[in-house]
Amino acid sequence: SLLGLYDRSLLGRAATPALDYLGTSGEALGLTFGALEARSNRMAHALRARGVQAGDRLAFYLTNRIEVIDLWLACIKTGIIVVPVNVLYREREITHIVSDAAPVAVITTSAQLGDLPQGVISWSLEALVAEAASQAVTRSTVLCSANTPAALVYTSGTTGASKGAVLTHGNFAANALALTSAWEFTSDDRYLAVLPLFHVHGLGNGLHVWLLSGCHMRLAERFEHERAADWFETYQPTVFFGVPTMLVRLLDVAPERAAAIGTRTRLFVSGSAPLPAPVMDAFRERFGHVILERYGMTETLMNVSNPYYGERRAGTVGFPMPLTAVRIVDENGQDVPDGTSGELWVRGPNVCDGYWRRPEATAAAFTDGWFRTGDVGVRATDGYITLEGRRSDLIISGGFNIYPREIEELLAEQEGVREAAVVGVKDAVRGEVPVAYVVCDAAVDLDALAQQVRTQLASFKVPRGFVRVDALPRTALGKVQRHLLPPWTIS
Ligand code: ATP
Ligand code: MG
Repeated sequence: SLLGLYDRSLLGRAATPALDYLGTSGEALGLTFGALEARSNRMAHALRARGVQAGDRLAFYLTNRIEVIDLWLACIKTGIIVVPVNVLYREREITHIVSDAAPVAVITTSAQLGDLPQGVISWSLEALVAEAASQAVTRSTVLCSANTPAALVYTSGTTGASKGAVLTHGNFAANALALTSAWEFTSDDRYLAVLPLFHVHGLGNGLHVWLLSGCHMRLAERFEHERAADWFETYQPTVFFGVPTMLVRLLDVAPERAAAIGTRTRLFVSGSAPLPAPVMDAFRERFGHVILERYGMTETLMNVSNPYYGERRAGTVGFPMPLTAVRIVDENGQDVPDGTSGELWVRGPNVCDGYWRRPEATAAAFTDGWFRTGDVGVRATDGYITLEGRRSDLIISGGFNIYPREIEELLAEQEGVREAAVVGVKDAVRGEVPVAYVVCDAAVDLDALAQQVRTQLASFKVPRGFVRVDALPRTALGKVQRHLLPPWTIS
């Protein structure tokens, strides 16, 4: 089970500082690995005392805090299946997860209790912590194998339906071993953890490289760009994992503070959404660091990343991770030649077996053990993989394939344009035509913008309409939710 991996740190490095925690209201707390072992044992007893058993689901509706780690470890020890719930989710989204996963309860703080929908069984974190305090510190575990589910993690719902991926002990272990080895984590690392633990990027990758390598982690309740320079200055992390918006925010740090960023950092990682090439360039110029871009997803944890050693190429995600195999296939599931676009299929010990209680969705997403990612990409002859977008975002206009990402990147390069999203809308003649939603300065003239891109794109790719919006709808991790854009009306 996963515990075997954690024991290197929990038992083997008991006296070593494991983490410190920074809450948004300024509180700070430091713990050793031995203290985590004791706290999680107590928590495991407290959960059992409430009647939770191996195989039961238990949902967390919590921001990053030490208790999430106590709870995670307690659940791994007792075979309870963790269901992390995004704290930004509101009634509709929470109800969807709770009715699907049927957890014994949803654990949350008293402050957030009011955010849960009526009728949901909730347990107060504070009460549980108080109960745990009087429990025995001895460890008690149940037998778990590589196939035992550890977590039921819901996909982000970027393309619409959020599905519960059943991730096993073996999935997390394989992912952690591959990452720790590929990116050379050692106990000397200092990991600045700002990614939410309710998403696989923070949970599957960040938390697990820390536990496996036995390095130090500074856990922040959430990423606060105003405090980022302080964190780098006082903590001097060797490793930072983020999403593109966070790396963009680091570029905004005032020049006199910027010297603190990256001085002792050996690795900046970006993932979960495309990292624009200009951001990667600016980061290298500003901080002297070449960001490592990774590609992963709820169902597979990590798949592909730019190399730790070797060239990190802007706009690409590099090579499959150790233990992971990636095919690029056409609509018939046949491998396409290098240089040709196709859907990425992934296979490996990191890939989940399927979705929770959804045999049809599982059957639709897996073929002969390969997970069909729904992402479209192309492999260069030297093996580097470039993502082009999601299959569901593909616009087919008059028989031509259009990937929105190409047009979005071009738009974002134009003067005064901050970002753009391109979607297909129905058209009687061409089937679909692209329409662009742009976030831009008031001074930008949309007709002039259209003129500019017209000279740089094939005519079928030129957006038929341009719509000015204040912001693009995004998920908690910054992914654009195209289906939530306002409908296009001819102006
Ligand atoms: P849903 O499956 O519910 O629509 P989602 O796919 O966004 O939501 P996640 O599992 O959180 O849910 O995200 C995985 C997806 O994120 C990938 O399939 C891919 O489309 C995107 N992604 C991850 N990393 C990158 C990256 N480096 N560049 C581009 N896209 C990325
Ligand atoms: Mg998905």
